[in-house]
Amino acid sequence: MNFERFENKIWLSSPTMHGEEIEYVQEAYNTNWVSTIGKNIDEVERIVAEKMGCKYAVGLSTGTASLHLAMKLAGIKKGDKVFCSDVTFAATVNPVVYEGGVPIFIDTEYDTWNMDPVALEKAFELYPEVKHVVMVNLYGIPGKMDEIRAICDKHGAILIEDAAESMGATYKGRQTGTFGDIGVISFNGNKIITGSAGGMLLTNDLEQANKVRKWSTQSRENAPWYQHEEIGYNYRMSNIIAGVVRGQLPHLEEHIAQKKAIYMRYKEGLKDLPVIMNPYDEVNSEPNFWLGCLLIDEDAMCKQVRSDNEPLFVKEKGKTCPTEIMEKLALYNIESRPIWKPMHMQPIFRMNGFVTRNGEGRAMTNAYIAGEGVDVGMDIFNRGLCLPSDNKITPEQQDIIIAIIRSCFE
Ligand SMILES: *Cc1c(COP(=O)(O)O)cnc(C)c1O
Repeated sequence: MNFERFENKIWLSSPTMHGEEIEYVQEAYNTNWVSTIGKNIDEVERIVAEKMGCKYAVGLSTGTASLHLAMKLAGIKKGDKVFCSDVTFAATVNPVVYEGGVPIFIDTEYDTWNMDPVALEKAFELYPEVKHVVMVNLYGIPGKMDEIRAICDKHGAILIEDAAESMGATYKGRQTGTFGDIGVISFNGNKIITGSAGGMLLTNDLEQANKVRKWSTQSRENAPWYQHEEIGYNYRMSNIIAGVVRGQLPHLEEHIAQKKAIYMRYKEGLKDLPVIMNPYDEVNSEPNFWLGCLLIDEDAMCKQVRSDNEPLFVKEKGKTCPTEIMEKLALYNIESRPIWKPMHMQPIFRMNGFVTRNGEGRAMTNAYIAGEGVDVGMDIFNRGLCLPSDNKITPEQQDIIIAIIRSCFE
């Protein structure tokens, strides 16, 4: 292969700006609403609630802050066990711990790489006292929402839906983030649309929306002086950030179309290799295709081991592994990233429960373990790789990325 190293780095997912953003920021500046109050916030809250099809969207400083207030609203208390998605970004789970909850991780299914409803049902058999479930729609692909919702209802559990990566994705025509009793989206710089930072809590309950507005602005009571009856937080969205989000919102659908085209081009370009792309329910769901990922067939995997901070692999003819592909792409200044390392494999959560569809399990090793049903999260982590899915990647650039990936299978 004789491609040049890209002069400008090809990113996994970087902000894509359009120009309106700066006009709304300028408007905030000109009118001196350089604060956590202002028209940009009001508009963003109105437009997002309308787009998502929920009654209230509350603008907050980050997705993580939104998740934190979601845990508080849901009533998670010190010592409560909480069922959580296992393959996700740590921000899904950390807020559970902020409130004193104890995450129990639920294994992943192969159909959408999200929380396995069979393992979730199993978990309720093992821990019938649990009253909260926190699930993510990974990489913009909706989980099995009907099944998860039904299991939560059956056991009287509150569902918190982390749609930080899946804004604009739908399941049976309904937006992700609205299946949970409480939903959360994020406007972090790498998300499908961005404010540089920012997040929102979605709810249909006015009382909840009002509580979140109050908590996020230091829990001030209605009095002439600073009067407090509850602990507060400084979690409100800035009107400057909201200006960026407001300028991005009209471009959500366009971003999704670009991401979908990138995903489909990978799928087509890799179709004769022993890999699949991160799968989704093609009948019931329309992902936002935030990140395209590949999964290498078991029998095309060369040996690969990962310590806590270093990977090693042994090259074999005709076989490869995520580490080889990632290192080769990096030589050409192309970013890729391992699948989010499962929470049950993280040192910080080593003592927490982990439930697979076969019952309670525990990660004993970081080494590659094959076999369906053993530990799906670990298996996807070992065989999967997130591919560069930046909106601005051109078809020509993507063809080079595909050629580099193909060369790893030689
Ligand atoms: C980005 C992300 C978050 C956190 O959002 P921030 O706005 O960065 O705080 C939460 N959950 C998932 C799954 C994410 O990808």
